[in-house]
Amino acid sequence: MDVAVVGAGPAGSFAAERLARAGNAVTLYDPSHPREKPCGGGVTPGVFRRYPDLRGLRARSRAAHAVRLRGPGAEGLRVELPQPIEVFSRATFDAALLERALRAGAELVAARVRSVRVDGDSAQLELDAATTRHDFVIGADGASSVVRRSLLGERPGLARGMATAGFFVEGLPEAELYVEFVRDWPGYLWVFPRPDHASAGICAPIGIENGVRLRARVLAMLEARYPGCLSLPRRPYAASIPCPGRRNRVAGPRFALVGDAANAVDTITGEGIQHAIDGAALLAETLTSSGPLEAPSIYARRWNHGNGRELRWSSSLGARAYRPATVGLALRLAARSRRAKRVLADLLTVLQPYSGLPRRLLLEAVAGSRSL
Ligand SMILES: Cc1cc2nc3c(=O)[nH]c(=O)nc-3n(C[C@H](O)[C@H](O)[C@H](O)COP(=O)(O)OP(=O)(O)OC[C@H]3O[C@@H](n4cnc5c(N)ncnc54)[C@H](O)[C@@H]3O)c2cc1C
Repeated sequence: MDVAVVGAGPAGSFAAERLARAGNAVTLYDPSHPREKPCGGGVTPGVFRRYPDLRGLRARSRAAHAVRLRGPGAEGLRVELPQPIEVFSRATFDAALLERALRAGAELVAARVRSVRVDGDSAQLELDAATTRHDFVIGADGASSVVRRSLLGERPGLARGMATAGFFVEGLPEAELYVEFVRDWPGYLWVFPRPDHASAGICAPIGIENGVRLRARVLAMLEARYPGCLSLPRRPYAASIPCPGRRNRVAGPRFALVGDAANAVDTITGEGIQHAIDGAALLAETLTSSGPLEAPSIYARRWNHGNGRELRWSSSLGARAYRPATVGLALRLAARSRRAKRVLADLLTVLQPYSGLPRRLLLEAVAGSRSL
């Protein structure tokens, strides 16, 4: 099978690697490498548990073993993580995944795809100076996916999405993850230390404040937490995080979407890398075993029953989870109870699924009342 993959971020490169290893002819289209990407860069432990061959990448990350939380009800709650979150520079992480895809036999074409069409026989990609044809096209082209726009007539979902703004800062004296909840609307600021710099930023429901004001909040947080740090070298960034609506289409005739293009981001934590990798693995396996005609419906069904289900939970809770009153209650509970703190740690590392959260909370409450 001859497969085009549009976008060589984590979703595209990982899908390309798996498809090439399974004997398919794979062409990756992406003009952007080498590059950094606006991101915290936190990769949750499930990725390395489910894909052991990626464990070697951890030599290039900085392991975070705890998160410091600040918000209503907690001025400096330290939550130890059951397993570390590995924090990468996205330039390093994405280049390593791309390198693996190329070593597996995929070919990289450093060109932007302008539009995509499908007919009964093939998928056609319009580049600036050429048209190419393939048996199947994978849209792994991120939050403004041209594949999604071309074939479904819609952008990735920004209705429930989040706006982000921030800086890559060099030399910040921070060893752990830091998250500070905004007190007047549902959102949070973060500092994620990476091996050679930190990603500091803010996440807010789209439209709540403009980019200038969001950046000003990040600078104020940085100066309050690390006095004098505003003289350190920094580069600004801004981006949006798409989130799934109730009905989320991820495939159709001769195409499928993965990663941000498929709205595969957790609305609550903003984590998308794990879902990009999971989606890529699922799609590569489905496409290889079922072929270009059967794969779209099988992949969509399996996605919607697996990760897609979790993402619908997080999307329906959405920004409500960050209401100051809700955050205050959760932080106060975690400060007082070891059980509540463990639930919080498991949620932060994505070891506790949202769909199982009501049951877990009930069991913890019963166990807690018995031990009184
Ligand atoms: C500020 C911020 C912080 C975040 N923090 C975290 C975090 O800490 N942990 C986490 O798990 N997730 C985080 N996320 C989410 C995470 O960054 C994304 O979910 C993840 O990058 C999705 O991977 P992807 O491969 O789908 O898309 P991307 O990483 O966006 O890659 C898409 C690729 O497609 C290419 N492309 C786009 N259009 C075209 C085109 N027309 N033709 C060819 N190529 C094209 C781009 O150049 C890019 O290389 C964060 C997001 C933001 C914005």
